[in-house]
Amino acid sequence: MIDADLDLAVLRASLVARLEDLRAASATSSESRRPVELDQTSVGRVSRMDAMQVQAMALAMERRRHDEARRIEAAIGRIDDGEYGYCIACGEEMSAKRLAVDPTIPTCIRCAA
Ligand SMILES: [Zn+2]
Repeated sequence: MIDADLDLAVLRASLVARLEDLRAASATSSESRRPVELDQTSVGRVSRMDAMQVQAMALAMERRRHDEARRIEAAIGRIDDGEYGYCIACGEEMSAKRLAVDPTIPTCIRCAA
């Protein structure tokens, strides 16, 4: 029991650290997500398309970060509620293997299928 609590505390700390990394990455990349200026007299058409591609990629990455942050926040919430490790759909205990692959997975294999 004590070991399980310790594991959860370690897991929670690593989830919080990951969340902070995601937020830091969001903050430092906010510039590249800004809309591409329509009036760019000094920049050619090709460069503008490059800039739009870079922006699109930055937006896609931000969406992925956002999704991951939401999953992490939910997992931290389950840890705090003492519900971590149980499928949110059926309530069955989830396999340690499945959680090892992705500790933020909220459902068991059967419910995910
Ligand atoms: Zn389930």
